[in-house]
Order: sequence, then C-alpha cells, then structure tokens
Amino acid sequence: MARERQRQRLGRITSTNGAITIKPFNTLKSRLILLFGGLILVTTAIGTWLASNLAVEELRKSTSQNLQEVAVQLRDKIEIDLHERYSDLSIAAAIASQSIEDDQSVSVPTLLNALQDAFPSYAWIGLVSPEGTVITSTDNLLQGANVSERPWFREASKGPFLGDAHLAVLLESKLDNPSSVPLRFVDVAVPLYRDNGELMGVLGAHLYLDWVASIGQSLLAPLQERLQAELVVADHKGTILIGPTDSIGQAIPDSLADAASRNPSGYVTDSMTAGASDEQTEYLIGFSRLRDREEYASFNWRVLVRQPAEEAFAPANNLRHTLIATGFVVSLLLILFASLAARWTTRPLIKMTEEARNLDPDQPSTLIKQRDDYEEVKTLSSTLRNLILNLTEKTRAMNELNRTLEYRVEERTRELENTNTLLEDEIIQRDAMRRERETLIRQLEETVRTDALTGLKNRRHYFELGRTAVKKAVRSGAPLSAIMFDADHFKKVNDTHGHGVGDKALVHLSKLATEALRDIDIVARVGGEEFAVLLENTDEPGAEEVAERLRSFIENNPLPLESGHLTLAISAGVATFWPNKSDNLDTLLLYADRALYQAKAGGRNRVCLYSSIQKTVND
Ligand code: GH3
Ligand code: MG
Ligand code: MG
Repeated sequence: MARERQRQRLGRITSTNGAITIKPFNTLKSRLILLFGGLILVTTAIGTWLASNLAVEELRKSTSQNLQEVAVQLRDKIEIDLHERYSDLSIAAAIASQSIEDDQSVSVPTLLNALQDAFPSYAWIGLVSPEGTVITSTDNLLQGANVSERPWFREASKGPFLGDAHLAVLLESKLDNPSSVPLRFVDVAVPLYRDNGELMGVLGAHLYLDWVASIGQSLLAPLQERLQAELVVADHKGTILIGPTDSIGQAIPDSLADAASRNPSGYVTDSMTAGASDEQTEYLIGFSRLRDREEYASFNWRVLVRQPAEEAFAPANNLRHTLIATGFVVSLLLILFASLAARWTTRPLIKMTEEARNLDPDQPSTLIKQRDDYEEVKTLSSTLRNLILNLTEKTRAMNELNRTLEYRVEERTRELENTNTLLEDEIIQRDAMRRERETLIRQLEETVRTDALTGLKNRRHYFELGRTAVKKAVRSGAPLSAIMFDADHFKKVNDTHGHGVGDKALVHLSKLATEALRDIDIVARVGGEEFAVLLENTDEPGAEEVAERLRSFIENNPLPLESGHLTLAISAGVATFWPNKSDNLDTLLLYADRALYQAKAGGRNRVCLYSSIQKTVND
C-alpha cells in the first residue's frame, strides 16, 4: 500500500480502474521542480560566471601589478646603485685631482682600494692619464697599460660616462672567475680636470655585471614565500644580459620588447624559454626601463620580473574553482529547497487528486476533505466539496427520476403493446371481413352474370362482353363473328323424358359447347334452350367452321341416360361483323338469329350463314 502511494506520488501510476493515466513528469510538482530548478541553475551559473570572471580578473590584475611594482623597485635599486657608483667616482676624482694638484697629500691607490673595499662589486678602478696610460689602479692591475682605445676612456675624456655591459678585454685573465660564464662588466668613468679646466686624466671603474643579479637576489629573497619570481635584465635591444645562465644572449619576445619600449613600466603575459631548452613557458612578466639622468645617459636596460603564468594565476584559478564549486553547492541546496517547497505546495493538491480519483458516485458519503493548508487549497477543496455534494444530490434525484421514468415507460409500453394487439386483432378481423365481402361481391357478380343451371355466362353478361368486343373490333379493324344455336325439338325431350332430363340435356349441351370451343371464345345461354357464341378475330368462313364443328360434336356425343342414349341436335346461325360497316351488336345478333331461323326452316341440325340468306334474297 505504501509502495503504491509512493508510485502514485511519483506520477507513474494509472488509476485503480485504469481510466486515468498520469504521465511521468507531467505533474504540478515535477513542473515546479523543473521550473525552479532550471531558474536556479541558470541564475547560479550566470552569477557564478560573472562573479568568478570579475574576481579572477581583479586577482590577475593585482598579481600582475605586484610583479610590475617589484620590477620598478628593482629598476630603482639598480639606478640608485649606478648613481652611487657615479657619485663614488666623482668624489674620488675630485679628491684625486686635488691631491695631485696639492702634491699628493692623499694616496690615490689607497683611495681606490678603499672604494673597492666599500663596494666589492668593483672589479677594477684605475686612474688613467690624458694619454690613456693607467697611472694607478686597484691591486695595481693593468698599471702602465694603454687603454686609450677603450670606449669608456674615450667617452669619459669628454664627460661622465656609463658603459653598457661588455666582456673584459684586458682584465679577463687578471681576475678570478670560478664560473664557466665569461666575466662581464659595466663601466663608470668620470674625467679629472685641473683648476684651469685642463683634462688631468680619467677615473674609470669596471663593475661586475653580477652585481645586478645580486640586487635581484637581495630584493627578491625576502619575497620568496609569496612570490616565486625571477629577475631577467635585457639591454636596450632586448638581448638578455642577466637571467638563467642558458638564456643569456637570447632575445626577449617581440611583444614584450615592444611594450617595454613604449611604457616605462607595465606587465604582459607572454611565452619565454625557461632556460636551456627551447620549450616555451607562459610567463606573467612585470617590466620597467632604466631611465637616463641629467649627468649621464643610462643603459635603458629592461628590468623584467617573471613568474610562470600557471603559478602566478594559480590563486586566481583556485578562486574560480572555489567559486564554481560554491555556486554548484548553493544551487544544489536551492534546488533541494525548491523541491521541498514544491512538495509542500503540491501535497494538499495531490491528496485532493487521490480523493477525487477514489470518489465513488454510488457512495454519496465519500467526500473531499476540507483542507486549510493555504488560501487557494482552502477555496478549491470547499468548492469541490460543494460541487460534489451538489452533484451527488442531483445524481440521486436523477436516479430517482430515472427509476420513476423507467417504471412509467414500462407501464406505457405494456399499454401500447396491449393496444397494438387489440389493433392487430381488429385489423385482422377487418381484413377477413373485407375479404369475405369481396368474395361475396365476386360471387354475387358471378351469380348475376352466370346462368344458374348450366354455369355458362348468361344473356346479360354476353351482351356486356359483346359490346366490349365490338368496340375492340372497331378499334383494331378485325372481324367479329357470332353464332346463335338452339336445341332442335327440345319440347319433345321434355315431353318424352321429363323436365329433369331436359335440364340435364341443357347442362350436357353446355359442357359439349365449352369443350368444342377455345378458351378465348365466349359462350352464353341467352334463352331457354338457346345459346350464343362470340368469336373475336374470326371471319365468316372461320365462324362457319366453328359452328359446324360444334354441331357435329353435339350430334356425336349423346347424353347417356339409364334407358339408353339421348342424341341431341342443334341448329346454328352464323353472322360476321365488319367494323367498316355501321353495324352494332344487336344487328349482329339479329343477323345470326335470322340465320338460325333459316337453319330451322331448312330442316334443323345444320348451320346457316347470314350472308347466304342475303345472297338468296338478292338473287
Ligand atoms: P324447335 O325449336 O325445333 O322448333 O322445336 P322446339 O320444341 O324446341 O321449340 P319450342 O320453342 O316450341 O319449345 C321450346 C321448349 O323448350 C319449350 C320449353 O318447355 C322447353 N324449355 C325451355 N326452357 C326450358 C328449361 O329450362 N328446361 C326444360 N326442361 N325445358 C325448357
Ligand atoms: Mg328449340
Ligand atoms: Mg327455342
């Protein structure tokens, strides 16, 4: 049961009667979760993306600016050191010139050695005569040597001079060099003048270039904990002077060289070789440029502080990951909250749906509960309750009405069935009566038209048929013939055998006449022992033949009697009607009757034609 409820809650169940199917994820709850979940995901994703981008950008900028600041500090330190060296030499030059002028009250070699002791990066300091001969120097190195061709000497003869990094030409062999890299120096040289302004000589110094590297170490070492950076110094052409051993002499990337020539300081992200291998590493590089001074032109070195971008931006990337993870966790929590809210919102509705699904229309007591979870649910449940109450009441009333109606319909149907039966009986009776009446009428008509004794057509019927036949003959132009025949000496039959035999003889005659004639020929009893025949489409010879056949048939078929056979005979008169003549039925029968009379007169038992009477008369 609990499992069933769980399945229903998930919306994957069909109702118990199978009529309602709830499709998965088509429930209000799943829609709310999808809607809010989607909104939360999209909002958090956009928020996280924006926040992480801004924060990461800021962090990258501040990291880059840090490197730029360190590069500026290094540049300043190098500039200060260089200027200090210039000041050293200027003071020393002033002292030396005064001393020479004042007859060597101060020992110049002692002065130079003191200077070197104070700043050990001096590789060599020497006083050179205006002609270029080294007069005195630290540790007496190169004493007496001619340096007149050295650029520093030539330039310093004209004014203070700073010489860019170079390899040692004369000193290399005279100085200790434990490393494999050749010694390199920068020069600081100032002129010495007499009081009258005449050049007295040049005071020149070579500084180990490593001095710059040591500045880098001294300045960067305290920052190692938070900044894994390294110092690279390139000359004004972009060739590396100081940096990882194998990179010395390589060129810095073009974009960096370009940026450094345009800006006094700044930062870039660019690829550089880390050292010996050609493999390029992405670096964040802070840069600054050595500046000229009023007293002398500087080297315009590029001071670079670089850090692998991966390392430099690791905090920024970590921040991005942290923000994304936080966004993810926050959205999960929000989705969880949204799903709880959706569940809380839809629970009363789900309950109501279940109750509605389980409603039994036959059980008015089953009702939707009144719920007060929130305003809409409250209204909905009370409205549904009222609706169902109303419906239940109406259904009950309808059922009642239905039952009453059914009873009334049944009753009415029974009544109708009874009425129908009565009606059917009535109709049957009426039909029977109608048929009976028709039969009676037919019988009556038959009686009216039939001769009672012989069953032949009677005179009246004969005349009816005769008039119709005349009309037909007039229309078609075909001949119509009539035969009138009469039993010969019939009075004698009656007299001899009695009236009963006379009747039998009349019936016998009728039967023979019917047999001898065709079905289409009309034969009727028109008098006591007098008969008439009507032959359509028959001319006079045809009618004579029929009359003769009839006469002969009667003569040869006597009526059997107990006492023997009674031979009967007839006399017949034949007349033919032609439509072109203006004759009618009466005339035709009159003519036939005349011919009959003629046959009687001619001796009986014979056939006589009306035309032959005419002939005789005409003759
Ligand atoms: P003929 O025609 O040859 O000149 O002689 P006939 O004897 O037949 O002529 P008549 O007209 O004098 O007699 C007719 C007789 O037919 C008279 C009558 O009794 C008889 N007859 C007429 N109708 C009936 C009938 O319905 N039944 C019987 N049994 N006899 C009838
Ligand atoms: Mg007769
Ligand atoms: Mg007669």
